Amino acid sequence: MINKQQSIEKVLNSIQQSANHSNRLVDDITLVAVSKTQPIEDIMTVYETGIRHFGENRVAELAEKATQLKDLRDLQWHFIGHLQTRQSKLVAKYADYFHAVDRVKIAQHLSKHLQELNRVLPVFIEINISGEKSKGGFNCANWKNNQEQRNDLLAAIKIIASLPNLNIQGLMTMAPFKAEKEFIRNIFKQLYQLSEWLNAELPTLKAKELSMGMSGDFGIAVEEGASYVRIGTAIFGKKRSD
Ligand SMILES: *Cc1c(COP(=O)(O)O)cnc(C)c1O
Repeated sequence: MINKQQSIEKVLNSIQQSANHSNRLVDDITLVAVSKTQPIEDIMTVYETGIRHFGENRVAELAEKATQLKDLRDLQWHFIGHLQTRQSKLVAKYADYFHAVDRVKIAQHLSKHLQELNRVLPVFIEINISGEKSKGGFNCANWKNNQEQRNDLLAAIKIIASLPNLNIQGLMTMAPFKAEKEFIRNIFKQLYQLSEWLNAELPTLKAKELSMGMSGDFGIAVEEGASYVRIGTAIFGKKRSD
């Protein structure tokens, strides 16, 4: 069995290789170690290898782990899961990044709670490129040909960008779990292109970061411009059952 130090090294080497391959700087890519379902001791072990960004997808688990590890002041918590409005207060309190803004309403709730806490939260707009019903995010399955889809997204992002306590970093997507490499590559390429289009439409937005790539596809994601990769299994092993 390989240990966490070795799996981290392996992942970092792969990121480095994919970055080299596409003439990108590895410093422009942040590894988010997705620690959902994993125990505190394993997070500590990974922290000790130098990783500072961790991802969670359940609010109660985020709150508990953030409380337990609050003395690690430079540890950054990324909330990467779907968020219900009634839970937005805890994300406002404990998260350092939120990757899944998938509707205007959740952005408004978050901003209100953040205001009460005097915090500003960096966020990503979640985009559904593949059109899979099981995936969250603004529907952009046909954005190149569908002006209404583009207009809807633009209108939503204008409202979200106007909220005082959210800071839009860029876009986030998930590729299908089981698909041909070229299909996955096309999803990531489209997220990049959508981001270019969006930033041209709204020049004041300056939201060029891309959160994409998981254990099975982060190499492709880095080649296509990912700046945040969210990796769980390749670092921690399989999810613990809960
Ligand atoms: C679980 C999860 C990941 C990490 O998935 P792995 O395949 O274990 O690397 C990334 N992003 C989101 C949104 C997740 O829920």
